[in-house]
Amino acid sequence: MGRKIKIITSLHTGYCFGVKRAMSLIEDGLDHCDCSLYSIGAVIHNPQAVQNLESRGVIPISSINELKTGDTMIIRAHGVDPEIIEECVKRGIKLIDTTCPFVKRIHEYVKQMAGESRSIIIIGDAKHPEVRGIAGMARDNTIIIDSVEAAGRIEGIEKAGVVIQTTFSREESNAIISVLEERIDDIRVHDTICEATTLRREATLKLAEEVDMILVVGGKDSSNTRRLYQMCLDHDIPARFIETTSEIDDSWFEGFSKIGLATGTSTPDWIIGEVLARLSETQESP
Ligand code: SF4
Repeated sequence: MGRKIKIITSLHTGYCFGVKRAMSLIEDGLDHCDCSLYSIGAVIHNPQAVQNLESRGVIPISSINELKTGDTMIIRAHGVDPEIIEECVKRGIKLIDTTCPFVKRIHEYVKQMAGESRSIIIIGDAKHPEVRGIAGMARDNTIIIDSVEAAGRIEGIEKAGVVIQTTFSREESNAIISVLEERIDDIRVHDTICEATTLRREATLKLAEEVDMILVVGGKDSSNTRRLYQMCLDHDIPARFIETTSEIDDSWFEGFSKIGLATGTSTPDWIIGEVLARLSETQESP
C-alpha cells in the first residue's frame, strides 16, 4: 500500500467573524419564528450552505415586491442599499439585519465624507452587493473603480473620500490608491479591507512554502475565495478551486506528497470536514 498524502490546513479557514455572526442571527430568527425568512439573493456565497438553509425555511427572492406586510427579510452580512431598507420599513416588512459591523463602519465613513462634500470613490467590484450597498450611502456622488487603469482615468475631482470593498486585495488597492493620490489634491483614504481576508491570504502564501499545491475550497461565486485562488495562480503556486468533494480528481495530486487546504470566508466547516475526509483516502502516486 502507498503512503497517504499529507494534508496541511491553513491557519485561517471556515466562516469569518461576520459570516458566523450572520448565521447565528439567522438561526435565532428560525428558532423564534414559525415562518419562512427571505433574503434578496443568496444569504451567503456558498450554494451548499444556501441549500441547507433553504430546506429549513430561508428562501432567496429577487425583489422585495415578492414580499407582503408582516414577512421577515434577512439583510445579508455584506449589507444592502439603504433604499431597500427604507422601502421594507414603509411596507411593514420585518428585518433581521446581519450586516457585518465592519461593513457598517464603511457606511458610516461614506456618510461622514459625503457630508464633507467629498466625492466618494469605492475601490471594489461594482456588481458586488456590498459595493452597491456602500454606494447607496452616498447616493449619486459615487465612483466605483477596480483597477489602476480606471484610477488613471479619473479627472476633475478636487476633494475625495476613498473606501475599499472589505474583500479586495491589498496589493491592488495600494497600487490604485497611489494613482489616486497623484490625481486628487485633497484625498482621505479609509483602509476598510477586512483583516479576515488579509489573514487568509497571508496564511495561504505561508502554507504554500510547505506544500506542493493548494486546494482552495469555497463557493464559486464567493469573491474572496476566487481572489484567494487567483492569488495562488498569480504567485505561480499550483492550485485547484473546488466547491465540494465531487470535483476532486486524484490525477491533480500525481507527484505531490503534501497538499495545503485553504478556504474563503463563507465555506462551512462541514464542507471542510468532507474535503479532509476525502483527501485522507488519497495515496501518494509511486
Ligand atoms: S469578510 Fe470581514 S467584512 Fe466580510 S463578513 Fe467577514 S468579517 Fe465581515
